[in-house]
Amino acid sequence: MSSEKARPHAVLIPQPAQGHVTPMLHLAKALHARGFHVTYVNSEYNHRRLLRSRGPDTLAGADGFRFEAVPDGLPESGNDDVTQDIAALCLSTTEHSAAPFMDLLVRLNSTPGAPPVSCVIADGVMSFAQRVAEEMGILGLVFWTTSACGFMGYLHFAELVRRGYVPLKDECDLTNGYLDTAIDWIPGMPDIRLKDIPSFIRTTDPNDIMLNFDGGEAQNARKARGVILNTFDALEQDVVDALRRIFPRVYTVGPLATFARGELGAIGGNLWKEDTGCLGWLDTQQPGSVVYVNFGSITVMTPAQLAEFAWGLARCGRQFLWVIRPDLVSGENAMLPEDFVRDTRERGILASWCPQELVLSHPSVGLFLTHCGWNSTLESVCAGVPMLCWPFFAEQPTNCRYVCSNWGIGMEIDSNVSREEVVRLVCEAMDGERGKVMRAKAAVWEEKAKEAVGEGGSSSKNLDELVKFLLAGSD
Ligand code: UDP
Repeated sequence: MSSEKARPHAVLIPQPAQGHVTPMLHLAKALHARGFHVTYVNSEYNHRRLLRSRGPDTLAGADGFRFEAVPDGLPESGNDDVTQDIAALCLSTTEHSAAPFMDLLVRLNSTPGAPPVSCVIADGVMSFAQRVAEEMGILGLVFWTTSACGFMGYLHFAELVRRGYVPLKDECDLTNGYLDTAIDWIPGMPDIRLKDIPSFIRTTDPNDIMLNFDGGEAQNARKARGVILNTFDALEQDVVDALRRIFPRVYTVGPLATFARGELGAIGGNLWKEDTGCLGWLDTQQPGSVVYVNFGSITVMTPAQLAEFAWGLARCGRQFLWVIRPDLVSGENAMLPEDFVRDTRERGILASWCPQELVLSHPSVGLFLTHCGWNSTLESVCAGVPMLCWPFFAEQPTNCRYVCSNWGIGMEIDSNVSREEVVRLVCEAMDGERGKVMRAKAAVWEEKAKEAVGEGGSSSKNLDELVKFLLAGSD
């Protein structure tokens, strides 16, 4: 007990959404493996979901690894298994979670046998938790779970407004080519367009919630003692260098999943129950032959878009694994055309949620049709799998730009997707010249990701530096 009490104690709090819960859990495990006592704070809503999807054992924690929960402030929805409204969640956690979080820190500090809290790592969009920590004299850092380029985009929302690019003057600006305007003044991102900036700028409303919220939270990172990013230097070198000129401490420690493997393997953060049957199916397929389709935890599409993807996959003649969340289609259950299911039974498999990292690293997977969420993108980079990109919102268009133009490992599908385009791009990516080039580049990035987390790699060194800083509270 006494040695436990002497351990440093890190409290980590993610935004309660899948794409934040997972990387924060990876970071928590990495710190635990380096000797920290860890408290990982879910929302009560997600705590209940994890109990259902993973079972009580996973939330029982482990030696020196504990779960806690605070309310997110949203009213009970009646349906306890859906992605919550992100804008509502942002406002609600900021307003309602700070006081319970402070109470939690007080309680943790007076728990007999447990070490006092030595640092708080708050999600970049939960900066209230970093503020609460500092008010209590506890070291507070933020973890932006986005790409570095996405974070840099959010950081320039205020400047885009100041220079008059945003808000848009008219709804027509969404379609009249205005979004193609070159933006060449954001540090480290010389070659982007307005459409590559995180999507919350696409509004005519100066009071738009997400424009103000994410722009404001990015500025709040300046008050934190350090900024953590789940990326690696070589992947986003110019942006990371530019961020280091803005923030005194930027810890690029990705891909974090690698540092999280180990004794806490049974603790997982998937909010949906994983369907592992698809792994057995992948075992029966030829190497590199399967198109894996998954749009993450938040993307919604119209029934018409679902049908275009379905007929595109049906006509391209490839094997596919398509993960369709129950709430993927806006306003209704995802219904696939009956003929589609019949026509593709021999070569396609559907699932509602899968263990994505295992799927992407399966040798049968040759292509990832993705919404370009940052976790999905990084997981694809790590597995050396090229991408077809259909960005939905937030910083996904920024990630898409980097995937396609900077890293050369993807091709973009028009937001107004058609079945013909799906067929053309899948064929080009699987059999065409472009596909060959993308696969070669993807293999190079996969290797660089391994180097970054290997011994002496940039992310390994940065994780050591982060640990040193968390232990000392100063450089
Ligand atoms: N994920 C998964 N199984 C699925 C769909 C998603 O394990 O069927 C995981 C995926 O591996 C990633 C996360 O959920 O780690 C989604 O995060 P991302 O940033 O890609 O997208 P978001 O869901 O935030 O839009």
